[in-house]
Amino acid sequence: MKGMMMMRPLKIADILEYAALAHPTSEIVSARTEGDIHRQSYEQTARRVRQLGHALRGLGIEPGDRVATLAWNGYRHFELYYAISGIGSVCHTINPRLAAEQLTYIVHHAADKLLFLDLTFVPIIERLKGELPADLRYVIMTDRAHMPENSLDALCYEELLEGQPEVMDWPEFPEDTAAGLCYTSGTTGHPKGTLYTQRSTVLHAMMIAVSLPGALQEGRKILPVVPLFHVNAWGLPYSAPLAGASLVMPGPHLDGASLFELMDKEQVYSAWGVPTVWLGLLAEIKKRDRLPLGFGDVVVGGSAAPRSMIEAFEDAGVNVCHAWGMTEMSPVGTQGNLPSYLQDAPREKRMALKAKQGRPVFGVDLKIVDEDGNRLPHDGQHSGILYVRGNTVTAGYYNNEEATREAFDDEGWFGTGDIATIDEHGFLTITDRAKDLIKSGGEWISSLDLENVVMSHPDVANCAVIAVPHPKWDERPLLIVVPEEGKKPAVSDLMDLLSEHFAKWQLPDDVVFVDALPLTATGKVSKLTLRRQFAEHVLP
Ligand code: ADP
Repeated sequence: MKGMMMMRPLKIADILEYAALAHPTSEIVSARTEGDIHRQSYEQTARRVRQLGHALRGLGIEPGDRVATLAWNGYRHFELYYAISGIGSVCHTINPRLAAEQLTYIVHHAADKLLFLDLTFVPIIERLKGELPADLRYVIMTDRAHMPENSLDALCYEELLEGQPEVMDWPEFPEDTAAGLCYTSGTTGHPKGTLYTQRSTVLHAMMIAVSLPGALQEGRKILPVVPLFHVNAWGLPYSAPLAGASLVMPGPHLDGASLFELMDKEQVYSAWGVPTVWLGLLAEIKKRDRLPLGFGDVVVGGSAAPRSMIEAFEDAGVNVCHAWGMTEMSPVGTQGNLPSYLQDAPREKRMALKAKQGRPVFGVDLKIVDEDGNRLPHDGQHSGILYVRGNTVTAGYYNNEEATREAFDDEGWFGTGDIATIDEHGFLTITDRAKDLIKSGGEWISSLDLENVVMSHPDVANCAVIAVPHPKWDERPLLIVVPEEGKKPAVSDLMDLLSEHFAKWQLPDDVVFVDALPLTATGKVSKLTLRRQFAEHVLP
């Protein structure tokens, strides 16, 4: 028997309209690329978002069209999230740290109609313009006074909004309508696109708001250092307005001193980001011998939070929530706040639990399996390949059948590429990674892509790129080369070759020459053996 309740499609625009009504004075504070601090309430933001929605339509943007952004964390980027999805189009956030080749690939793959960019990125896009689609149009996210000379024939963001109506009847569409597109690095080949729906985004916002109620409430201020250009800033642009928390957007300056200043001035309660960022903040806290005013909570994810970092924050009186997730999961999968029955446990036990990746948020199912797909027990001992399932998990990659085929098991669960244990209380511990990638400062580097380029050098017989632990960046790439007999390629030649294809930060930190690479039983290069062998390798 069916129930008899209304079925209203979940829609992203409703979040901001609700925030404007329920939390009209909560605000978005932004350190702008123009150099100043800007503030606007959710109520003002909603008015501007409606104007932007009209402006986008005026530019001919239709439902389903992809509109790209290349921008730091700031209120205009936030406005684009809502206006683009509000009219039924797809907000495609682009990671500016991608190599030029990948960036142009994804703009073509997504077939973006319009690209919104921050002032910082104008020179980069001017250089790339010849490689981007000829009919792509550009909007620079600033006002008339700050519009730079440019060769993009670009429109000006604030001019687009001028004179547009502040009211908008947001259209209705099915809740599985595409709303957001975010590309993530593949182990091979090109980045793969996760295509979020209106429904998955709203559900994710609700799930996070109930899972992290300490930070997500009216009167709290949250600093997303995690970028809006990647993994939706862990959903904060949606969960914060829903809960009424204010957002403090750091703009381009993410060093410890800049973050401390901003947090101190704005009395940020909760700050979210990858471990590398918190190393900088902790150094600044040590230098000044005090916390930023009001600071009480930090969410760490994207890479494993080192136990020493967790202890440094906790000992200073800042609660650490160690979270795990993936772009393909909207992105939050687990969160590490301790349940009340564990909060009074001895310090040693609490720290050990916080170093784990936490427990699933509502709506995310986890399972671990062995190599044959058999389920392993959740006893904290058995380590297996981690699979996930839920309404906020991807159902396939955008226009990429091959990657989609490889991503799911026979039961329809999504393979994360992480290796993990799960204990009897549901705590997840990521123990290793099956995917052949390196995560440096929260950003991916593909080992296989680097290897492919190195292999094209005539003096290279074989090679492997592995992740080596690094105190600041978490991991950095190490290139291991087997030269052709009697040859030894110059390191500078290998680096020049790689520089043609990769961004500077993606290049290996060191090159080691060996006679042979260790192989697995099936004859593949054993990355596991190499990672163990070079775990202590000191990078220059
Ligand atoms: P995000 O940057 O939000 O983590 P990505 O899709 O770029 O999203 O990366 C997801 C991957 O990052 C995970 O599959 C895992 O390998 C790694 N990861 C994320 N959070 C953690 C964590 N807390 N501990 C260890 N690895 C993590």
